[in-house]
Amino acid sequence: MQAINPKPFMITIELAEPRRMGNFLIVSNDESIPLEDRGILIQTDGDYPGIASTFGWVPCECGETDGTVDCSHRTADEMIGEAFEFLLDHEGETVEDPGYFGG
Ligand SMILES: [Zn+2]
Repeated sequence: MQAINPKPFMITIELAEPRRMGNFLIVSNDESIPLEDRGILIQTDGDYPGIASTFGWVPCECGETDGTVDCSHRTADEMIGEAFEFLLDHEGETVEDPGYFGG
């Protein structure tokens, strides 16, 4: 019998080794994915806002930016820096996978 509402897969934000590089790793708990493919390395600053948003960060209250472009209140650089700090603060947290692993 198939489950009608299968449990969603989860992703965890981790700081990749070596930690001093400041690269993040998104790790899936989907055991159907081969272990070597179960992590996505984030090395581009422009990716921080999207991932931080997945973990609950809000780029600007105005809602006019996703954090990668300036809005009338904040610059993209400022928001990308804040997203990075947010991810550092939330290392090890787990949320539902919004589709990073084809979910
Ligand atoms: Zn704004």
